[in-house]
Amino acid sequence: MGLFTGRKTMFVDSDILVIGGGFSGCGAAYESRYWGRDKKVVVVEKANIERSGAVAQGLYAINCYMGMQWDENQPEDHVRYARNDLMGLVREDLGYDIARHVDSTVHKFEEWGLPIMKDEETGRYQREGKWQIMIHGESYKPIIAEAARKAATEVYNRIMVTHLLMDKTRPNRIAGAVGFNVRNGNFYVFRSKAVIIAAGGASHIFKPHSVGEGMGRTWYAPWSSGSAYALPIQVGAKMTQMENRIVLTRFKDGYGPVGAYFLHLKTTTENAYGENYEPTWYNSIKELVGDYVDHHPVPTCLRNHAFLQEVKAGRGPIRMVTKEAFKDPHKEKVGWENFLGMTIGQAVVWASQNIDPKETNPELVMSEPYVMGSHATCSGAWASGPEDYAPSEYQWGYNRMMTVEGLFGAGDAIGGTAHKFSSGSFTEGRIAGKAAVKYVNDLGNDQPEISETEYENLKAVVYQPMENYEVGRNEIVAGTVSPSYILPIHGLQRLEKIMDEYVGGTSTNYVTNEPMLTRGMELLSMLKEDLNHIGAEDLHQLQRAWELQHRVLTSECVTRHTMYRTETRWPGYYYRADHPKLDDDDWHCFTLSRYDPASGEWKMEKAPVYHIID
Ligand SMILES: Cc1cc2nc3c(=O)[nH]c(=O)nc-3n(C[C@H](O)[C@H](O)[C@H](O)COP(=O)(O)OP(=O)(O)OC[C@H]3O[C@@H](n4cnc5c(N)ncnc54)[C@H](O)[C@@H]3O)c2cc1C
Repeated sequence: MGLFTGRKTMFVDSDILVIGGGFSGCGAAYESRYWGRDKKVVVVEKANIERSGAVAQGLYAINCYMGMQWDENQPEDHVRYARNDLMGLVREDLGYDIARHVDSTVHKFEEWGLPIMKDEETGRYQREGKWQIMIHGESYKPIIAEAARKAATEVYNRIMVTHLLMDKTRPNRIAGAVGFNVRNGNFYVFRSKAVIIAAGGASHIFKPHSVGEGMGRTWYAPWSSGSAYALPIQVGAKMTQMENRIVLTRFKDGYGPVGAYFLHLKTTTENAYGENYEPTWYNSIKELVGDYVDHHPVPTCLRNHAFLQEVKAGRGPIRMVTKEAFKDPHKEKVGWENFLGMTIGQAVVWASQNIDPKETNPELVMSEPYVMGSHATCSGAWASGPEDYAPSEYQWGYNRMMTVEGLFGAGDAIGGTAHKFSSGSFTEGRIAGKAAVKYVNDLGNDQPEISETEYENLKAVVYQPMENYEVGRNEIVAGTVSPSYILPIHGLQRLEKIMDEYVGGTSTNYVTNEPMLTRGMELLSMLKEDLNHIGAEDLHQLQRAWELQHRVLTSECVTRHTMYRTETRWPGYYYRADHPKLDDDDWHCFTLSRYDPASGEWKMEKAPVYHIID
């Protein structure tokens, strides 16, 4: 304890607390200020909002832009597109709500200084694909962060939020959050009338391809630790579609993106023998999913499926055919710049492996699974929809409010709405911010209060890993091994192995079944028991310990959802070998879960999918 006896408890009051200063968090701060000029808006972020979140490294394209000013697409078109890609299951009300506002967000980004490429002939934004526009986006995040910094009353960087606080008198109402400063160890108690969860997705819950010293190299940001799911789960918010993990085709070893290659460079894929393999699998896919295989564009998971089958048939590796495209100087420039703007590591990998895409068609690989709600899949919290558009069953309060009163979410945190990407996540943050201001205004004098006992208890819980280390380190038997605690890295590797081997990771070719899931749950329960004995030797490790706790709870939720949905809805993302076909009769629905914090029990249920747009 010696080193931390000076640890203080700091209290911060706010009207609106935004947890996570990534894309959706910045959008939430910006819009909360717009509608709530007199409100105290606080952003709390575990890194520094200047370069935090999935867009930290920059991007080369904004993947969600309608182009309504030029009548390129309408919001309804985007809903149809997302619904098709997700094999029929999206919250159309939420998706439409984002699509109708997303263009105004992109116009703001340009106003704030983001260079967007223009088509020289038409003067319109340069399209990469139907929904994507191209940007010079290395500084995308700092530009957006500046707007949030100016809008927020205060930004607290370097504070990891570990738990939410509930109202002392009224059950199921939010009252704030707690966390600790990862640099000086101070404990933070945030009292707030409304809370917006904007803490990103989850990587490193399944074992990544890159292990050992390279394990930080994953496709989704390695610091996306599932807090956006664990925080609401801990207080009993309902979650949806948590089984809908994403697996991506990416360039091998560097996880370099393929979007610009497919869409702008018009490159194609081939098997090891130079053949177009996708048609080979048409009939067998049709057997599994029926007419969904005839939809255009072909859903991403089905293209993944063809890739995986071809490799299983022994005709891998699959390659991207770049040789022709790279002969065109414009396309060659775009091919490289695409990496320089967002994944420099891929260019370095190619250089180190003697791959010149002009001479060699580079290998592709299927990534390990990730969990998220903003990219091409839609895991997350079950949220109330827009007043003017959502069916009554999807409306129990304010827009983007979860099933806990006063608890809002955006971006990766909100389920049912895939294909938001960076611009859509910022837009959803704006929507949540506006709704949270209205909620706070409507509270009047009926304001939540936190309980001293609750936050004092949590304080002891939060620092327990440091206590475990202080006591247990005297028993270290060799290297870092102590009989009394496990270190966060050990817990993480154990988690990744369980999820990989039992819940549909790469080592089983994304296949699982009920017995495997049951065993996976047993092993997860044992891991949870051991997490009471996790040891943290410093504040950095304390952060790792809490990220692990959040990842484990997220993983448990993923496993339960995967067990509940007894069909294979998205072959290519994962397979229930005991239910190998898509089953629209029983499963054309959302899966919902709720963890009961009082009893520790989980309850699963179905919710209807309403097709609002024809
Ligand atoms: C490799 C990659 C490529 C992508 N390509 C594109 C693209 O080309 N175009 C496009 O439009 N989109 C792209 N995206 C998607 C886009 O980045 C995401 O949709 C968007 O960032 C999601 O926003 P978010 O706010 O939900 O999460 P994030 O932007 O990740 O923000 C989450 C924030 O929460 C913080 N946080 C997490 N846990 C805690 C905690 N416990 N306490 C405090 N703070 C916490 C994090 O540090 C982070 O700042 C890409 C993403 C990745 C990873």
